[in-house]
Amino acid sequence: MPTCKHCGTQWAWWQTVKRSFTISPGLPCPHCEKEQFVTKRSKKKTAMISFIFPIMIPIMSIIQASIWTILIVYPSMFILAISLYPFLMELSNEEEFMF
Ligand SMILES: [Zn+2]
Repeated sequence: MPTCKHCGTQWAWWQTVKRSFTISPGLPCPHCEKEQFVTKRSKKKTAMISFIFPIMIPIMSIIQASIWTILIVYPSMFILAISLYPFLMELSNEEEFMF
């Protein structure tokens, strides 16, 4: 779980998920309200999870999955990815850019 680098408090799972749905790059800490940023290393980890979705397209085609299989597998993977996200998130006091 992410820990605020300013106050040292660990964010709860639901707080992390809720705060990660913001458009702004900075995430306000639920305890001290100081803006925190997702680290570059953490962004890379979560990007790798996102690659699972396009990789699954040819796999689904190869196994000739039915539309019902796809309708069950993709939402399940999405829920799993959202559930895992707080465990991969690391915070920093300063914004780190990917490039
Ligand atoms: Zn804090």
